[in-house]
Amino acid sequence: MNSISFDLAGKRALVTGANTGIGQAIAVALAQAGADVALAGRSEPAETLALITQTGRKAVNISADLSTTAPLARVVKETVAGLGGIDILVNNAGIIRRNDLADFTEEDWDAVVDTNLKSLFFLSQAAARHMANQGNGKIINIASLLSFQGGIRVPSYAAAKSGVAGVTRAMANELAPAGVQVNAIAPGYIATNNTAALQADQTRNRQIIERIPTGRWGNPQDIAGAAIFLASSAADYVTGQILAVDGGWLAR
Ligand code: NAP
Repeated sequence: MNSISFDLAGKRALVTGANTGIGQAIAVALAQAGADVALAGRSEPAETLALITQTGRKAVNISADLSTTAPLARVVKETVAGLGGIDILVNNAGIIRRNDLADFTEEDWDAVVDTNLKSLFFLSQAAARHMANQGNGKIINIASLLSFQGGIRVPSYAAAKSGVAGVTRAMANELAPAGVQVNAIAPGYIATNNTAALQADQTRNRQIIERIPTGRWGNPQDIAGAAIFLASSAADYVTGQILAVDGGWLAR
């Protein structure tokens, strides 16, 4: 019997939005597990590049604003050129806009849906072409609790993240015969820039912690173990799943 392996040695990963937060933790963890990593984003990821280099793995920086589909083919092309191929894609880049339903603007709708859902799909499409050709690959989408719930004052985010769950399953079905697994991680409440406003709101902060069975906010590294698992051969028979890493939130 073969031993179960979480080793990513020799794998080539692309992570979006990895200058900070969850994307940074995942990118560094993939490198610690043995992968070379390309980072695609609109901000210079100097700290993440240094942390990956410290692991002895290769790090490549690709400058790209993922709010439109324009750079997506180039992002995959530069990943393949820089790392020699692509085995793992982590679609992490995302934004959130908060407003009351009555005041929610079309701009706030389009910005969130374009970045969090449309670019995620078309970047996956571009990467999947390479993965299907080589007969294997892993796509990991960062979903949300709002892939399951409606949330408060974030309708475009709930729509986009619910769409991420749907498109994860749709891509999983179509890519399974080609040896490509597509899954999502749904982080719970994780302390990052994305949630700074919630953490600063004393009432909401207390309500959130009271509702989490584990009794604390998650940190970005809490998400990284799930990413290593889904990127590894240990998860070769796992596809189309939305894995909540939420301190028990959804179990309540
Ligand atoms: P974060 O620290 O704000 O990170 C978001 C990342 O996405 C940043 O690197 C950001 O780059 C990048 N990004 C945003 N818009 C972009 C664009 N147009 N082009 C390129 N990169 C862009 O927040 P985070 O919490 O780590 O979020 C990471 C993912 O987890 C998101 O998809 C988010 O929805 C999801 N998530 C977070 C939580 C949570 O509790 N924190 C819960 C569920 C899901 P800049 O630094 O340049 O803005």
